[in-house]
Amino acid sequence: MKVLVIGGGAREHALCRSLSQDPAVTELHCAPGNAGIAQVATVHPVDQLDGAQVTALARELGAGLVVVGPEAPLVAGVADAVRAAGIPVFGPSGAAAQLEGSKAFAKDVMAGAGVPTARSYVCTTPAEAAEALDAFGAPYVVKDDGLAAGKGVVVTSDRDEALAHAAACERVVIEEYLDGPEVSLFAITDGSTVLPLQPAQDFKRALDGDEGPNTGGMGAYSPLPWAPEGLVEEVLATVLQPTVDELRRRGTPFSGLLYAGLALTSRGTRVIEFNARFGDPETQVVLARLRTPLAGVLHASATGTLDQLEPLRWDEGAAVTVVIASEGYPAAPRTGDPIEGLAEAEAADGTAYVLHAGTEAAEDGRVLSAGGRVLSVTATGTDLAEARERAYRSVERISLKGGQHRSDIALKAAR
Ligand code: AMP
Repeated sequence: MKVLVIGGGAREHALCRSLSQDPAVTELHCAPGNAGIAQVATVHPVDQLDGAQVTALARELGAGLVVVGPEAPLVAGVADAVRAAGIPVFGPSGAAAQLEGSKAFAKDVMAGAGVPTARSYVCTTPAEAAEALDAFGAPYVVKDDGLAAGKGVVVTSDRDEALAHAAACERVVIEEYLDGPEVSLFAITDGSTVLPLQPAQDFKRALDGDEGPNTGGMGAYSPLPWAPEGLVEEVLATVLQPTVDELRRRGTPFSGLLYAGLALTSRGTRVIEFNARFGDPETQVVLARLRTPLAGVLHASATGTLDQLEPLRWDEGAAVTVVIASEGYPAAPRTGDPIEGLAEAEAADGTAYVLHAGTEAAEDGRVLSAGGRVLSVTATGTDLAEARERAYRSVERISLKGGQHRSDIALKAAR
């Protein structure tokens, strides 16, 4: 099978790494890719938001599977264009991707499917926003309705800050605050059959101790030793399957990756958000533990044959990923700095490796930072403590001027 992956972050590097290890994959391509992906796949310059360009490339390569990584091309309908050309594609239609593209749409689907989530109001004026904030009280949760790369959410006890964020967005969803730990649970679906993956937890805030601004994600780990038994089965029955069934009923079947961001509150499991694609950085740790070759699983989603797949096999051990971000991330990331120590950070036995996010290869062969999140240093081990130690050992070998990372990824869970 020839596979084309669309995207160029650490998630796509993780996808490409797994696909490159699948014996069924004869050729691996990625567009646009990055400096790390270029080591395992042939990279192609392409506007990833342009369905016609992506389809033309897939045709030219004779791709038997196209995997769309990020949310923006999905919402833009890139999977629709590829599917219309008769090429199997992993990723939902633009209409189904509205589950992530519009918080208001997601709330409506959840209401229809009877899926437990935070109570909420959709607001378009400052007066409506003020009323909704006062209805719930502090802490306030204000979400930009549209796509915001994980950064459109403000959680604060400062009413003025909440109002200011609402005013800065065209349409916001204001909702009740959910207490309790968060879990990310991914499921692969073909629109009918739903196959949950292993749960993971990510770290959204920029600084240790969950301080600082929200980011795209600063690290992740899997499994979750503290999670209640039966969590995956419960979420499959109460969240994932009803949502997939509801979208099919509405005439917008969802195939691809359904990501449920959950809060395990004192009153039960609640959905915080849905995403329509693999989450970054959780993908890095979930795929690190998946033993079943990846291409066949994604192809079964693309072709509606997930019910014929053998149960997924998992590594019993643990995985941890630590993100190295640029100076100034998330507000104003500085780019163009050389990254040193990448080779030294890789373990010869494959238990630690560096996934590239925002990087590019300079003409002189050096690797330069090219985005906010630059690297996702990933390690596996028999348990979280070992995976964590290996990941941080690798992080210490890398130097990036002004680079920042959290030092407490998986710390509590590993104890
Ligand atoms: P989202 O983009 O919806 O995942 O929100 C980003 C982050 O904001 C989440 O991972 C949570 O940490 C936080 N958050 C979102 N919604 C809520 C809520 N209703 N209650 C508490 N925290 C929330």
